Amino acid sequence: MFNRKRKAILAIDQGTTSSRAIVFSPDGEVIALAQAEFAQIYPHPGWVEHDPEVIWATVLSTSRDAMRAAEKKGWKVETVGITNQRETTVVWDRASGAPIHNAIVWQDRRTAETCAALRAGGEEDRVRERTGLVLDPYFSASKIAWILDHVDGARARAEAGELAFGTIDTWLIWKLTGGVAHKTDATNASRTSLYNIVSGAWDADLLELFKVPAALLPDVCDCAAEFGEVDESHFGRSLPIQGVAGDQQSATVGQACFRQGEMKSTYGTGAFMLVNTGDKPVYSSNMLLTTIAYSLGGKPVYALEGSVLSAGSTIQWLRDGLGIISRASEVEALAREADPQSGVYLVPAFTGLGAPYWDPDARAAITGLTRGAGRAEIAAAALDSTVHQTCDLLDAMRADGVEVTELRVDGGMVRNDGLLQRMSDLTGVDVVRPSNTETTAWGAAFLAGLQSGLIASLEAGRDGWSVDAAFKPGADAGLRDTARAGWTDAVGRVRTR
Ligand code: ADP
Repeated sequence: MFNRKRKAILAIDQGTTSSRAIVFSPDGEVIALAQAEFAQIYPHPGWVEHDPEVIWATVLSTSRDAMRAAEKKGWKVETVGITNQRETTVVWDRASGAPIHNAIVWQDRRTAETCAALRAGGEEDRVRERTGLVLDPYFSASKIAWILDHVDGARARAEAGELAFGTIDTWLIWKLTGGVAHKTDATNASRTSLYNIVSGAWDADLLELFKVPAALLPDVCDCAAEFGEVDESHFGRSLPIQGVAGDQQSATVGQACFRQGEMKSTYGTGAFMLVNTGDKPVYSSNMLLTTIAYSLGGKPVYALEGSVLSAGSTIQWLRDGLGIISRASEVEALAREADPQSGVYLVPAFTGLGAPYWDPDARAAITGLTRGAGRAEIAAAALDSTVHQTCDLLDAMRADGVEVTELRVDGGMVRNDGLLQRMSDLTGVDVVRPSNTETTAWGAAFLAGLQSGLIASLEAGRDGWSVDAAFKPGADAGLRDTARAGWTDAVGRVRTR
């Protein structure tokens, strides 16, 4: 017993605005955490980039810090899990390991025209049947082609096999293994628009459609699998990478949504609602996405997903764009001062609108301003925009026949109790915040734990999940209908299609 270190799991959570590393015990306790924010690069309106080398540097430093802190507390990391911002696209040189362009971030709209042309060419149904996705610049395929067409000589080099593509998971696996492993998992693959979610393979027709050479692509693995060994130079010893899932899928695992009908919603930069639909893909008639929730033992489990492009980022805009708050946490108190009848709406289409509208050309607006409106009303309208977008997604899910009674929430925004109460009031469903709000990172740790044997089964995940706070619907129907009608009118003003 003496000097014996307890076994732990490192989760790398590479998000849109920060990289985090969390060391978990196998039963989900946070042992150590390190976080580093990094720069958002906005080269043109509607474009968003990250520097992949900066992402890697923040992942490496936070992982080292968290592991060191955990070791001091008597824990030893045995396995690594990765979860990541999805769709964000990196292309690099296989020989030097150097990216040939900045990463193009999921929010980036630069390929809107390419996607519109494919839609006009009648390709939407084919893409949807095979990938479960709509034709939108959000997904990786058109971003890869953009890089190949805008970096000198890149297309020829890609065809010659000299370049590699990866979403952020793949880029990190490549860097962690010292360029040995070029792999991704089924959830990340399912967000590229190139992966056939029914056959479980890269789709040759889609590669041709989006003009992406097959030589760029990584191997696709289950979410709990052998992704490679971390090179000794990084952490002083070798470690296996054994769990990978895109952030929203990882949160679905972290929220223990293992049964059909179980649903989670994550409120970070964007907001993402996923409902487990079991072993068969369900196709939406209401512009929701069909995606792989997780894949274990060679068997995919599917989800319906609603993606909202701006949620927490709207609060960041209040802070950085408008300057009416100096910290995100101030928004709750400010919104409480607002006149509840103000009639002010903020439609946060800063980078277009996601589900269920899918309108990349829409831009944000504040409507209903009177001389009585001020910072408080704008703050309340900003928070309400996340609530209304949640209502829009739930309406779409209901229209697709999904029964909704409870919403399990997580992400940086859900520490805001006022927001969750309002969400329950306007959606009419129970909103439940779990004790473990690190669900995204925990999902990746859980997958690595499963593969390594530190965690016995999915049931262990269900047993470990518990409630911190539950918010019940309180508002009367009249108030709800007025608010919803005002929002629908405001959205109608910014839509372009
Ligand atoms: P991501 O993983 O997408 O980078 P996080 O889950 O860390 O995001 O959430 C951070 C987001 O939460 C930020 O966009 C921030 O504006 C928002 N946020 C933080 N605190 C609050 C709060 N009290 N109320 C509303 N939004 C908040």
